[in-house]
Amino acid sequence: MKGRDLTARTVGFQPGERNVFFHLLTACNLSCRHCYINPAQHGATTLPKTTVLSWLRLFARPEKESNLVLLGGEPTLHPDLAEIIRAAKSMRYAVTVDSNGFLFHDLLERVTPAELDFLSFSLDGPDPAVNDPIRGAGVFRTCTDNLRLAVGKGFNVSLIYTVSSLNIEHLHRMPALLADLGVRRFFIQVIGLRGKSAEKTHKDEITWQVEPDRWLENVPRVAKAAADLGIHVTFPKVFLGPDEAFECAGRVAENFFIFPNGRVYQCPLCEDYPLHCYKIRDNQLLRHEGLNEDRLFTLDIPEGCVMNKLLQPENIEYLADGRPRHRISCCLLKQEIVPRSRKKNNAR
Ligand code: SF4
Ligand code: SF4
Repeated sequence: MKGRDLTARTVGFQPGERNVFFHLLTACNLSCRHCYINPAQHGATTLPKTTVLSWLRLFARPEKESNLVLLGGEPTLHPDLAEIIRAAKSMRYAVTVDSNGFLFHDLLERVTPAELDFLSFSLDGPDPAVNDPIRGAGVFRTCTDNLRLAVGKGFNVSLIYTVSSLNIEHLHRMPALLADLGVRRFFIQVIGLRGKSAEKTHKDEITWQVEPDRWLENVPRVAKAAADLGIHVTFPKVFLGPDEAFECAGRVAENFFIFPNGRVYQCPLCEDYPLHCYKIRDNQLLRHEGLNEDRLFTLDIPEGCVMNKLLQPENIEYLADGRPRHRISCCLLKQEIVPRSRKKNNAR
């Protein structure tokens, strides 16, 4: 594979594509330092199976496949996850489970690779010395052991690495690890200031975010190195070039972020605030009236994403003439590099 001209392309929002991110519960066995879950805003219950299935029906389309990502907290803590996966498949969802790698309730024994489109593992470092101070003692070992088991059983496995100031310098070691583990799909994410990372930033305990130059020097280069090893890589766009159009996914795409308290957001950056567009009450999807996220989606500003400007204005640099140095893309806009031998096969 080495030496091929593998360049990143921006994955524009596709009309008609629907992505449903369903948090089945907010409980988790871990306590990651950057955890974005906010029980005060998202609820603390584990949704019963019957409720999960009713809510899935609200977003399913009989005529067309939709992408479903089952999340928590830790979704494998849900005792009925295997049945939920099978029910979702019967409703024409392509199903991904995003796990921290602990795989409770014998998930690998209770579903088959044919029943689950992707099993995604989160790891924030190429070794325990980098990962475990962020995600917890012993987590690297458990996560990579279970990942190897899943690969061995034939599951489609992907890995998510959340880039922050604590681990960006170690990102370049991930492609070799992924190749060794047999992972063929790699998602690089940018840390969002939500949940715990927002609290810590506001208390000035830690600066999580990565400066633009550091991001641009590291992330595209590592993505290409992973693609050179035959790995399909997706990473956020973040900074728009001068000729690139800004689009807010809230205006042009169908993304739903569902929480156990019934809040349904269209923008993940809004999740710490009661700005949700929709709510589920008595198993019905209703508009949430008032000052909501969709009022923000319609604002055109030179900085690009309005929610980014509201939440983290200190990260926007300005030129002497007052124009922003970079326009910030929608956080849902991705770039990808697909090795030529592989076709695109995962929505996230
Ligand atoms: S695994 Fe996910 S839900 Fe659990 S503490 Fe870490 S970031 Fe939060
Ligand atoms: S991240 Fe910004 S651009 Fe994307 S949906 Fe939210 S407000 Fe819109």
